[in-house]
Amino acid sequence: MLNHIFNKKFPFAYNYFSELLNLVFENKRNFPQALIFEGADTKTQYLFALELARILNCQGNKTNSCDCVNCKWIKTHSHPAINNVSERHFKGEGDESKTVISAKQAREIEKSLTLSSDYHRFFIFFSSNEKKYDPFELADFQNLNYATNIDFSIKPLTFNTFHSTTPNALLKSIEEPPKRTTFIFLTKSKEDILPTIVSRCQVFKLSGLKEKLNYNDILTIISSYPNIDYKNAFEISDNLQKYIKENNIDIEIILNKILEYLKDLLKQNPQTNIKINKDIKTINEAIKQSRTNMSDKIVLDTMFLRLARGY
Ligand SMILES: [Zn+2]
Repeated sequence: MLNHIFNKKFPFAYNYFSELLNLVFENKRNFPQALIFEGADTKTQYLFALELARILNCQGNKTNSCDCVNCKWIKTHSHPAINNVSERHFKGEGDESKTVISAKQAREIEKSLTLSSDYHRFFIFFSSNEKKYDPFELADFQNLNYATNIDFSIKPLTFNTFHSTTPNALLKSIEEPPKRTTFIFLTKSKEDILPTIVSRCQVFKLSGLKEKLNYNDILTIISSYPNIDYKNAFEISDNLQKYIKENNIDIEIILNKILEYLKDLLKQNPQTNIKINKDIKTINEAIKQSRTNMSDKIVLDTMFLRLARGY
């Protein structure tokens, strides 16, 4: 159902929502009524939201090439129940606000929810100006058979456009929406959204890039790498165990930091790649062992001995 391009971009969300959609279609779960998507790529978050809306409303086979009426409408941005809400979208009559999502809009939404609907309704909140995208910027839309005549920018919500009165006017709608209604808020970070909203939403980080681990804290302990010998292998292991205990850190995090450090070393010293590549395997092995009930001491002693030997 969900296209594999999302597996590359947002692997966690892809897996989570693929599973969830299956359960929804088996009537074992309801689709959430309020979601926050966090992350840097708001445009792709928006496409992801549209795809969820499309799959939930599809009357055909749910793939991207489906051309049932609902899929067609959503892919041409004209579905009556899929609503953009921004400074430019979903403005009621007499709403002159141009730079914010207004409390009037929130009331407009509340009003629209009193009408019944055959569809799974979506309200996708983001910040927007007039904009012409270059075609290459909308390549993913095109790949998923969406019309690319989008004449508005798709930017993250911030306090400037979505400030206190509006979210507060929305609370009731978010809390007790009619069945098959979903609110989605697109933002860089949930810190940019009022806590009263956040607390009513499921928050998903839509980001494919693993955060780079900072390994500076353990550098002095492992500084003799790659010249570890038998004599100091146990000493390094002991120091690291002490550090883990004192700071109450999971050993797996420490091992991942060492991994990150070695990968950076590899980039800087490609000529030592044979040793470092072997050592990376050793550390991955240790990560696996750390997930069993092996003690930290044995995992680390074994690992540093292997690093000393070079295999
Ligand atoms: Zn369809």
